[in-house]
This record gives sequence, structure tokens and C-alpha cells, in this order.
Amino acid sequence: MSKVLIANRGEIAVRIIRACHTLGLATVAVYSTADREALHVQLADEAVCIGPPTPVKSYLNQDNLIEAAKMTKADLVHPGYGFLSENADFANKCEQNGLKFIGPSSQVIAIMGEKATARQTMKEAGVPIVPGSPKGFVTVEDGLNYAAKIGFPVMLKASAGGGGKGMRVINKKEEFTQEFTLAQQEAQHAFSNNEMYLEKYLRHPRHIEIQLMADQFGNVIGLRERDCTMQLNHQKVMEEAPALIVDDATKQKMLEVSVKAAKEINYEGAGTMEFLLDSPGKFYFMEMNTRIQVEHPITELVTDTNLVELQLRIALGEKLAMQQIDIQSRGFALECRVNARGAGKITALHLPSGYGVRVDTALYQGYQVPPNYDAMIAKIIVYGHNRQNAIALMKTALDETVISGIQTNLDFLAQLLEEPLYLANKIDVNWLEKLTKGI
Ligand code: ADP
Repeated sequence: MSKVLIANRGEIAVRIIRACHTLGLATVAVYSTADREALHVQLADEAVCIGPPTPVKSYLNQDNLIEAAKMTKADLVHPGYGFLSENADFANKCEQNGLKFIGPSSQVIAIMGEKATARQTMKEAGVPIVPGSPKGFVTVEDGLNYAAKIGFPVMLKASAGGGGKGMRVINKKEEFTQEFTLAQQEAQHAFSNNEMYLEKYLRHPRHIEIQLMADQFGNVIGLRERDCTMQLNHQKVMEEAPALIVDDATKQKMLEVSVKAAKEINYEGAGTMEFLLDSPGKFYFMEMNTRIQVEHPITELVTDTNLVELQLRIALGEKLAMQQIDIQSRGFALECRVNARGAGKITALHLPSGYGVRVDTALYQGYQVPPNYDAMIAKIIVYGHNRQNAIALMKTALDETVISGIQTNLDFLAQLLEEPLYLANKIDVNWLEKLTKGI
């Protein structure tokens, strides 16, 4: 029997443990001292403490994780999302220690993790990219030269970026030096890397992404698209599938270029190609995420697949059992990310359920939400006949949800579902930010 160490915590660790047990795989949870009472620790077959609460000393501590895997004789490591999931060094360390890292090879992770290199790689694979600097740079002079060629406004990004850090919109030449310096400092601080690159700033884009799954034999399938346009400070708030804004021909094109690119880079496992849709039919590659994503359940619902189970099967050397032609999209799925606003004890909890409702969470009554980690504490996911029906299901689900003892964004989410422009599906990636600032 194979044993999987889950190098993560929270809802995704629980999601992975469940998928492992369904497949008859043994599980090892890891936890920091802040997570002794966490649900993933209770659900796994074994659990190993890997350090103090600070992520760098526990969930990001590669040596402790490898040691825990060796000690428990685990064969595979599932990194989840966040933490070390897109860390090429960690994937490499797993490989060196005879552990199967669940995901693509460390080389592929490294290429996609360097955003400037990723853009170049995708361009060569025939994927349209946002016009921008042909490579990364570190000096303000190079930046100014590229910006002049691209034309203002430009979007400055950190090559090693993620989570919206080190990103800046620069509207005119006069602002460039100051903004560049600040963004570069932020990048250096967050990623220990000061390489930056530029893209043309698109004014009203929508965020559309394609879910990919690839086995070890070169078979790649595209599990259709998601619309993640509802964002606040470049962080996703709600996601939906399918993307009604995109016409069928464009969807098909996005899917085809994504699958082709994944094949060309010898991709393995779950991955997501993120695109910005500038105007109907015009899309550009933004980045590739080489891991399972937070919003994967909406794809599971509309395509009737278990993506985490597929990840595990692929890592165990199975061939993809389905072909592209088998992947149909049916119905409409919507996900809301429930965030904690501060730490504390959950004194009362009622989670929604019923027809078309799914909740992925690691919460339970009496659980102490620690202050050290990601604010997302639950994902409420609904599946309906169409968008209108899914929104109605979501309203009912949010209305029923009770999370007492801590502050959450539940009311905020419920308010969003009443917004006329959201209901009319006429938003862009900046819409919510403007709305919350009252612009
Ligand atoms: P990160 O990896 O830090 O999350 P991304 O490159 O994925 O950064 O971009 C995050 C979000 O920023 C996108 O979903 C989009 O809303 C916005 N964005 C990124 N690039 C551009 C661009 N060139 N023009 C306009 N908005 C952009």
C-alpha cells in the first residue's frame, strides 16, 4: 500500500486525505504546534509535528518535511496549494530522496515559476502572451526603455511573483522610477529576487483559466474553463464555471493552445493556464499554476471528475482513463471563498448543505482558528442548472451559514450576490476594487 504525506494544512489537506482514503492510500499529516487540534491531523492515519507556528519553521521547512516523510516511510508527497506547492527546490529534494512529488518535474516548476521565462516558453509553444518586455530586467533604465516601447499604462510584475505582490500599474513615464523602486523592493522582500518584467496594462480584462490534467505518458486533457474575474486586490473572491462571457470558438482555442503547450513542456499532473480576456475573442496567457487550485471544485462539478483523485492516480503511474472527447461541461457551478477576519475560537457552527451544495472546510465547532495562516477557512460551492439557479442556491447557502466566535466575510459575499452588474455578468477584474472604494 502506498503512503502519501500531505505537506499542507486546512481545507486542502482534508480534501487530499479524503481522496487518498477513497483510493485506499495511507496518509500522513504534518502540523505545526499551532495546528495540534486541526482537523487534518485527526483525519490522517498518522501525524507528525514539523515545527512551531511560523510557516518558515514548519509548513515551509523542507528538511523537516522530508524527514517526516522518511520517518513514516511515505512514498509520495502532495503539496496542496500555497506553501511549497510551486517550489522547484522542494520538488527536487523529494525526487532526490526517492519521494514522488505529486505534480510536474522540478524543471517544469522552475520554468513556470520564473514568470518572464514562462512567458517566453509559452510564446514559443504558440500561446498568445500579453505584449510586454521580452525578458526580465533589474534596472530602471531597462524598464523605462521597455515601457516606452510597450506604451503606457503598463503593468509591472515581479518575475518570481505570486499573490499579487510586487505588482504595480504605472500610468505614465514620470511615475515609473518611483513605482519601479517600490515594487522591486517589495519583490526582493517577498521572494528574495528583484527581477521584474513588464506587460501592457489591459483596462477591462476578465480572468479566464483552463484546467489541465496530464499523465506520465504524454496524455493531456483540458477540463474546460473557469471565470475568476471577481477579484479584490488581485485575489480571487468568487469563481464560476463555465465562463458564459466567452464564446465557444474562443473557449475551444484557449483549450487547444493550453493542451498543446502542456504537451510541449512534458507537463505532468494538475495545472492551470491563466488568461486575460481583453475583448471578446482576444485572450492572452498570464501565467501557469503548476498545482491544484483553490477553485478546482467548480470544475469537478461541471465536468463530473475528481481532480485530486486524478492527481493521485497519475502520480501512482496510471494512465488517464478519459480522453478530451469525454470531457463535457454540464450545469453551472459557483464558489465563494469564506475568509476569517482575525483569529479566535469557533463557538458555534452551522454549515449549509442540501441539494447542489458542497462545503470544503477544516472547521468544526470549538476549533481555534490560528492567526498564522491563510485567512480562507471554507469554500462554499454550489451546482445548479444555470447561472441564475446557482446564484439562488448560493444566496440560500450563505444565508444559512453560521460561523460564530470570529469575524468573517460572509455578509460581504452575500452583498456581492445582489450587485446588478455582477448579476448581469458585466464585471471586469477591477470592478470589485472600485466598488469597495466607492469609485
Ligand atoms: P499573481 O501571480 O501575483 O497572482 P498574476 O500575474 O496572476 O499575479 O495577476 C493577478 C491579477 O492581476 C490578474 O488576475 C488580473 O486581475 C491582474 N492583471 C495581471 N496582469 C494584468 C495586465 N497585464 N493588465 C491588467 N490586469 C492584469
